[in-house]
Amino acid sequence: MNKTLLSLTAALLSSPALADTLIDHANGIQAGARGQLEHFTGLLVGDDGKVVRVIRAGESRPHAATTIDAQGRTLLPGLIDAHGHVLGLGFAALQLDLVGTSSLDDLKQRLKTYAAAHPDARWIIGRGWNQELWPDKRFPTAADLDAIVNDRPVVLQRVDGHALVVNSAAMKAAGITPATATPPGGRIENGLFVDNAKELIDKATPPATAAEFDRAFAKAEEILLGYGVTGVGSMSTGLPDWEAMRRAGEAGRLQLRLMVYADELNLLGEVPHPTDWLFGDRLRMVGIKFYADGALGSRGAWLKQPYADRPDTRLLQFHSDAEMLALDERAAAAGFQIATHAIGDAANAQVISTYEKLSRKYGKDRRWRIEHFQIVDPADIPRIAPAGIIASMQPTHQTSDRLMAEKRLGPNRLEGSYAWQTVVKSGAHLAFGSDFPVESPNPFPGLSAGISRQDMNGQPPGGWRPAERLTLGQALHAFTRGAAYAGFAEQKIGALEPGKWADFILVDRDPTKVDAQSLARTEVLETWVAGKKVWNRAP
Ligand SMILES: [Zn+2]
Repeated sequence: MNKTLLSLTAALLSSPALADTLIDHANGIQAGARGQLEHFTGLLVGDDGKVVRVIRAGESRPHAATTIDAQGRTLLPGLIDAHGHVLGLGFAALQLDLVGTSSLDDLKQRLKTYAAAHPDARWIIGRGWNQELWPDKRFPTAADLDAIVNDRPVVLQRVDGHALVVNSAAMKAAGITPATATPPGGRIENGLFVDNAKELIDKATPPATAAEFDRAFAKAEEILLGYGVTGVGSMSTGLPDWEAMRRAGEAGRLQLRLMVYADELNLLGEVPHPTDWLFGDRLRMVGIKFYADGALGSRGAWLKQPYADRPDTRLLQFHSDAEMLALDERAAAAGFQIATHAIGDAANAQVISTYEKLSRKYGKDRRWRIEHFQIVDPADIPRIAPAGIIASMQPTHQTSDRLMAEKRLGPNRLEGSYAWQTVVKSGAHLAFGSDFPVESPNPFPGLSAGISRQDMNGQPPGGWRPAERLTLGQALHAFTRGAAYAGFAEQKIGALEPGKWADFILVDRDPTKVDAQSLARTEVLETWVAGKKVWNRAP
């Protein structure tokens, strides 16, 4: 090889570097592998959208075709929500929003306004009410809704998704009469349909069209990117959800990175095995989600001891041990990761025992997930790390639920509840999320609760069971690296490192310099995915 050819080759080899983009003068912060904070000021991004170099203060700047001055603004990795319901968020945003209703009268007023604004809606669907926030804490009834709307069906889901209240027109459309038998694992009461009884109403609700799914997906994507969320563990994904995600990918409209968990075994016919990453690492069917119990608010969580505030509640177990093992075996044998919803301490113990058996058979790196891991017997927590079990938890559930949890459990059974620091210290992997739309998809109140055990208003002073607080680095880790690991995506996302995607956000404040209440109010200014700006706050 002669000299000219050598220098030509060198020029060719170095030319891609000259096309790179340098994001400079940033206040870069991310969580290191062990939950420590790392600081940097520059990011070199290749034309392939991946990180080439992370540059610290004082290090020399490489040449790049384009330089973007971040003007000292704070830059964080794109946040990853380990557990959310993407289409649920999109549909909720298009439906009647009852989150934060302060009373039954408030709910009625919102229903009245929505019904008047949507005269063409054949069914009125809403969600988000929580009678625990109302002065008398009484569940709403069909009669309450009939007084506002009686010409068409109304179906209003409780905030936790475990109960519906419907009007008489909806019961008529669903063929419900006083003679209708209550399904096992369900409850029907004056228009209230709890857990397995919800299906009677769901069956009668007209399904959304593909175009409505596309609209809901686009809405969800816009909301998530606006909160700085670039990756999601997409839970309880049905076939129409999966198809909407694929259509978005095929049309080049998919920006989020979705680690998808199918709803029970319903998708096995269509997607018999986990898929590869599709559309430039934006979509992957990775696992299947099962349920071991219901929710604490509606007293559907399966506890080892009776409820403190309703000692007669029984029969909350969803599956026998043998049934649960059989379900898991089918999913595991097909190569899927398993994510199981478990809220109560009895449900968590059952899932841990099942996963211990699977671990012996399939080895540890199947990353068995427990979703919520809310009320856990302290004796069971040390069992999860040895079985390779991931605790997928939602910090804002703790701030929303604490008063209700104290009532349901009494004062002496809270030790293993929402026990984030105990989980980390046990050596287990912790992933954070929000369970949107049950809670807001905004990860900043979650980060804030993670470090303070306080809500957005600083309640309670000093934090609830403050020994379970995390450091900022640990909380950020759970919302980035931990959530990526939980979805088998830690080689691609969760940290800004060479070879990983340049998914990052610019925010309006430095999380290391503000208190927890201010952290909760952080606003995202720009969201970048694969080195491209995909969202920006309107000026
Ligand atoms: Zn969920």
